[in-house]
Amino acid sequence: MSADSEASDAPADTAGDDEDARTTVATVCLGGCSGCHMEFLNVDHGLVDLLEDVEFVASHMIVDEKEVPEADIGIAEGVVTNEENVEVAQELRENCDTVVAWGDCAALRGIMSLRNDQDPEDMLEAAFDGKADEHSEVPTGEGDAVPRLLQDARPLDEFIDVDVFVPGCPPDADVMEASLAALARGETPEISGEALQYD
Ligand code: SF4
Repeated sequence: MSADSEASDAPADTAGDDEDARTTVATVCLGGCSGCHMEFLNVDHGLVDLLEDVEFVASHMIVDEKEVPEADIGIAEGVVTNEENVEVAQELRENCDTVVAWGDCAALRGIMSLRNDQDPEDMLEAAFDGKADEHSEVPTGEGDAVPRLLQDARPLDEFIDVDVFVPGCPPDADVMEASLAALARGETPEISGEALQYD
């Protein structure tokens, strides 16, 4: 992946005075820590201006949506680490015109891939067996089963086409704001130089 971000399918310029013409955005959290979403909230007062041009139609920051609705822009945080993440990623690609990978986990696989040298079954047993009480096991019942872990946690573009990468752990809120605003204007975000410096 190039350090600079690329948008191959930026949404048409739908911003305008009419609220219904705002660019629609759906966000999902895959195998992430929600830190990228939390950092986005640091846009703070800038959100007021941003919301003149974009409308969040789904995001666990706002509402507990179970499905990914159709949207101009779909944003994913986190690695693809289990079978449910694969389904959500594919839904995001099918329902959104432009897909954005937020953060090092989604873009590069990041810190969440530290689990890749462990056996998935061993990890589930370590997390669940005997934890609630001495008889508790990994939940496997219909409706409450834990999604099956993939052998490795992997970045989003190994499963679906990704149009824009916003790296960082988490990315800087200003960069997240500027890249989303650019997409809402139908432009390709420029993420290079100081925008790639984060610590
Ligand atoms: S990139 Fe960092 S902040 Fe974002 S989900 Fe991964 S670990 Fe959390």
